[in-house]
Amino acid sequence: MRRSWVRLGMAAAVVVAVALFAAGRGDVVAAMLLGALILATGRAVFRGYSVTKGPTGPPVDVEEEGTLLVFACETCGEQLVLLRKGTDVPPRHCAEKMVLRRIPTPSSNPDPRYN
Ligand SMILES: [Zn+2]
Repeated sequence: MRRSWVRLGMAAAVVVAVALFAAGRGDVVAAMLLGALILATGRAVFRGYSVTKGPTGPPVDVEEEGTLLVFACETCGEQLVLLRKGTDVPPRHCAEKMVLRRIPTPSSNPDPRYN
């Protein structure tokens, strides 16, 4: 149903463009074509942002003995501790994918100052 309306609109646009071209207003046709090209480019670019990578399964606890799973941003140094994992896709920070690291938990640190 929606496809037929799109085709009807495109056919109407072609008819209007031919009529304007015949009436000596080729500049209007060029402007409409340029506008359509910009609109199509914008939609193609922003369509990628609206698609999210959903969960790959039920969330699972990622507890490991003696280590913490930490997502680190290599640009600004921010670190996030991962407790439950719902997807394999790493989070983003500073427009970059964060890097997963394993760091020892403070309680497993042999240095008594950290216990
Ligand atoms: Zn960052």
